[in-house]
Amino acid sequence: ERGGPKTVLILMSDTGGGHRASAQALKSAFFLEFGTQYEVIIVDMWKEHTPWPFNTFPDSYSFMVKHEWIWKLAFDFSSPKFIHQPHFVATTAFVAREMAKAFVKYKPDIIVSVHPLMQHVPLRVLRSRGLLHRIPFTTVITDLDTCHPTWFHKLVTTCFCPTDRVGERALKAGLQPGQVRVHGLPIRPDFARKLPPRKELRQQLAMHPTLPAVILIGGGEGMGPVEATARALADVLGGTSGTAPLGQLIIICGRNKKLQSILEAVDWPMPTQVQGFVKNMPEWMAASDCVITKAGPGTIAEALIRGLPIVLNDFIAGQETGNVPFVVENGCGKYSDVPTEIATIVAEWFGEKKGELTAMKERALKLARPDAVFNIVRDLDKLVRKAQEAYGSKGVVYV
Ligand code: UDP
Repeated sequence: ERGGPKTVLILMSDTGGGHRASAQALKSAFFLEFGTQYEVIIVDMWKEHTPWPFNTFPDSYSFMVKHEWIWKLAFDFSSPKFIHQPHFVATTAFVAREMAKAFVKYKPDIIVSVHPLMQHVPLRVLRSRGLLHRIPFTTVITDLDTCHPTWFHKLVTTCFCPTDRVGERALKAGLQPGQVRVHGLPIRPDFARKLPPRKELRQQLAMHPTLPAVILIGGGEGMGPVEATARALADVLGGTSGTAPLGQLIIICGRNKKLQSILEAVDWPMPTQVQGFVKNMPEWMAASDCVITKAGPGTIAEALIRGLPIVLNDFIAGQETGNVPFVVENGCGKYSDVPTEIATIVAEWFGEKKGELTAMKERALKLARPDAVFNIVRDLDKLVRKAQEAYGSKGVVYV
C-alpha cells in the first residue's frame, strides 16, 4: 500500500497558449486547498518522456509561432481527419511505451491534461492497462471558444471547460453532460487575493496617482506589435505643448529583453513604465483601466477578473483565434491590429467614450471566474476519493 500524499500528474507542453500558467495555477491551488495531502507533478510529456522526433515539439514551437504560416499549416494538418486516425495510431506505437514508463515512475492517483495533444495517447495507455477511470483522467481546456478537436476525448472522466461556449462544444463533440464541467480557466490563486486600494497600489508601483492607465502586454514572451502600438499610443496620449497627457502607459515586455531595451531608450511624452517579466501582474492590472494584449487565454481571463476592457492586437493563428470572438462578442473589448486604430480606441475610452469603458468593465466582471482554479481542484479531489472508494485505496498496480 502506498501511504503519504496522493499524486496528481499534470501533462503539459510548453507551447504557449497558457498551458504552463494553467498547470502552475492548479499546483498552487492544490497546495492552498489541501496542503501536503497532494503532491502535484507537472511534466512536459513531449519533451521529457517521448522519443525523438516527438520530444522536439516544444522547441520547434517558438520557431513556428515566429513564422506564422508554418504554425498554421501544422495546426491545420493536425485537424480531425489527420490526427484522429492514421497520424495518431502511428505515433501511439512510439509514444505509448514512454508514456507508460512515466506513469509507472510517478504513480499518479489522478491525471490532468492541460494540452490539446495529450488526450489520445495517455488514454490509450490507461485503457490498454485496464486503468481507465481507476486513475481518473481529466482535461483542463485552455482555449476560450473555438478549440482544436483533439481537446475532446470521450474516454475522459471529466473535461473542465473555461467558458459556456467551450462547454457546448464539448457536448457537440460527443461528451456526456456528466463528463463536462464549466468552472472557468484556472488562473493563479494570486488573482483571487484582496488587494490594497488603488491609490496605495499606484504609489507602490510608482504610477501617476490619477491619470487613467493602459497596460500593454504581449504574453509571457513579449510577442506581437508591442513597439508599434506603444509609439501610436504616445502620439495620442502624450500632451502636446502646454496640454496635460490624456493617460499613462505601462508596457510589460515579458521575457523579450530586446524589446525592453528598445522601449526603455524612448523618451515618452506621457508617464510611462517599461517592465520586463513582472511577477505581480495582479497588482499591475488592478492599478490600470484597460489592457492591450495578444489573445492569450491567461491574460484575457486575468483582465476579466480585474474588470479591464481589452483591446486585442494579435493572436497566434490556430490556437488563439477563437479567443478573439469570445472577447468581442461578449462586449468586453475590441480587436484591431492597426496601431493607430488601437491608440484611438484607448484615447476615446479615456475621453469622450468613458461610458463605453464603464459598460465593458461591468460585462468583464460578470464573465470573470476568479474561483475557477479552486473549484477545479476541489472537483479533482472528489474524483480521487470516488475512484478510491470504488476501487479500494490500495493504490494501483502499475506494471
Ligand atoms: N505574465 C506574467 N508576467 C509578465 C508577462 C506575462 O506573469 O511579465 C503572465 C500573464 O499574467 C499570463 C501569462 O503570463 O498569466 C501569459 O499567458 P497567456 O495565455 O496570455 O499567453 P502565452 O504567453 O501563454 O501565450
